[in-house]
Amino acid sequence: MTAHHPNDDLLLAAAAGTLDAGASIVVGAHLEGCASCRRAVREFESAGGAMLESIEPALMAPDALARTLAAIGADTPVVRPAAPALPRPDLPAGVDWPRSLAACTVSRWHWMGPGMRWSRVTVPHAPQANVFLLRIGAGKALAHHTHSGLELTHVMCGSFHDGRSRFGAGDFDAADGNVHHQPVLEAGGDCICLATVQGRLVFDGAIARWIGALVGI
Ligand SMILES: [Zn+2]
Repeated sequence: MTAHHPNDDLLLAAAAGTLDAGASIVVGAHLEGCASCRRAVREFESAGGAMLESIEPALMAPDALARTLAAIGADTPVVRPAAPALPRPDLPAGVDWPRSLAACTVSRWHWMGPGMRWSRVTVPHAPQANVFLLRIGAGKALAHHTHSGLELTHVMCGSFHDGRSRFGAGDFDAADGNVHHQPVLEAGGDCICLATVQGRLVFDGAIARWIGALVGI
């Protein structure tokens, strides 16, 4: 049962297509599993469509359609080869990759501490987007940290508690510089989170800061 959802600002931005590339992937992963948020996005979309319909139409040049079709090459059928399946690191049995990652490159699991691994997600059309996966073993704790910008997290499997609340599979979290937390993993298998940070995680301890800088999250 999903307990934590993106707020209306994020869902409205998803409907308007104005999320940045990283946020779009993480919010998109939540939407795939959350019917109530998909319904909210559809309502925002139809509200936006109704607004567009109420705008006074403007006269277009007589050849506008022909010029637009010519510009996009609409008279030439484009045959694109099927994209090769991208290699993916392993996931626990029964856990699927979010479809929002379909076009992304996902690195192998890298060590970042005892029982802790991470993977870099590269977005082809936005290589600067800071998107990553964290895979933390049951009972482990991520170092205390805050954020230099907004951090969005989608829990793919497992669960953790960070002093504010409990987050399980399908839950979404948004944390900014006002949130100083330490996610502690619960029993029951690895917890894998898909996350994006606008900025960097700011860890408390010197070793954690060093590891954070090393892996670039
Ligand atoms: Zn939701």
